[in-house]
Amino acid sequence: MVTGTVLRSHAGGCLVHSDELGLTLLCAWRGRLKKEKVSILTGDLVVLDEVDCTAGSAVIVSRLERRSFVSRPPVANVDQVVIVQSVHQPEWNPLLCDRLLVHYQLEMGSALPIVCVNKCDIACPTELEALQKIYEPLGYFVIIVSAATGQGMDTLISVLRGKVSVLSGPSGVGKSSILNILDPELHLKVGAVYEDSCLGRHTTTSSELYRIDTGRQAAAKSSWIADTPGFNLSELRHPEPNEVFFQFPELAELYADCKFSNCMHLVEQECNVLSNLEKIAPSRYESYKTLVAEAQAENKLRQVTSQKVDAAVKVVGGKDQGVLVPRLSGRYRAASRRGEKQELANLSRRSKTTSEEVPVDDSQ
Ligand code: GDP
Ligand code: ZN
Repeated sequence: MVTGTVLRSHAGGCLVHSDELGLTLLCAWRGRLKKEKVSILTGDLVVLDEVDCTAGSAVIVSRLERRSFVSRPPVANVDQVVIVQSVHQPEWNPLLCDRLLVHYQLEMGSALPIVCVNKCDIACPTELEALQKIYEPLGYFVIIVSAATGQGMDTLISVLRGKVSVLSGPSGVGKSSILNILDPELHLKVGAVYEDSCLGRHTTTSSELYRIDTGRQAAAKSSWIADTPGFNLSELRHPEPNEVFFQFPELAELYADCKFSNCMHLVEQECNVLSNLEKIAPSRYESYKTLVAEAQAENKLRQVTSQKVDAAVKVVGGKDQGVLVPRLSGRYRAASRRGEKQELANLSRRSKTTSEEVPVDDSQ
């Protein structure tokens, strides 16, 4: 049985690397997979058949079970996420960093993302220390690097060794430059800094996995890294409003002693978080407030949408075994009611022997 890792997945097929064969193959899907609508994503481990080493082709017959999955951008079997931002050019964006931390914590569950600070060559030591001081005590591993000078790359390489990592961050912070250092064969295009604060200029849905040489890996597993395509802020996940603080370790800790069980830690008197605000980095509390507000807005939108859906259907056939059927729109409802009344009127007219007109109430 030959297995491989999907490097890139298209509607037409996949690029799959097999460690056993030491080859990257262009693979089609076995028809059954398509029929059963099995999704095959970047990072998936697949079983191959009909391997033709000379032509560099094979057929994917099945997908092995996923051990993890990141949905935006979709990558399977991810071990860790590395969030990259630069100190300057573009400027460090604390809210974006916290947004990405929360998003990937929700996506990955237990594994805390790693914070990678690039372009340290153009930052002063105090700026870098300030960032370390915020994130390290919270349990995040902070790696300070420069793709320009190579500083810190050894630490980054040791973190990536033998793992599947996702590199995520806004455009212009140096992700491609970092990948080019990790694997000089990649020759990724290094772009200019975009002034707008969006996460990426191009919104594509697929991401690509690169096999990188992190040394000392002959016996160990390969190291893989996925560069994420640009995605919109609206694609980032939010927890429920009253659960946002779980994603902020410093707030979660203070919550334990908060005397209100459903405290939002925003305005409540004697809230343990508000009484200890000096222990929280101001930028972190600002991010918390923003994410709560966004989560509330998202919830509201969801409620309005579900009310609309509720209003559009009704239960027919009893509460337990009933089925949902669409309600007739007002126009049809009125027409059918009128129809019923007309029918009744006709019936009563026929049953009467007199030629009296039966008034039909058409007002509704
Ligand atoms: P990406 O959009 O995140 O992939 O960023 P790029 O790798 O395309 O880099 C954007 C710009 O930042 C390019 O002009 C790079 O030369 C520059 N750059 C990348 N890394 C560094 C660094 O460590 N220091 C400095 N000074 N510039 C860097
Ligand atoms: Zn509180």
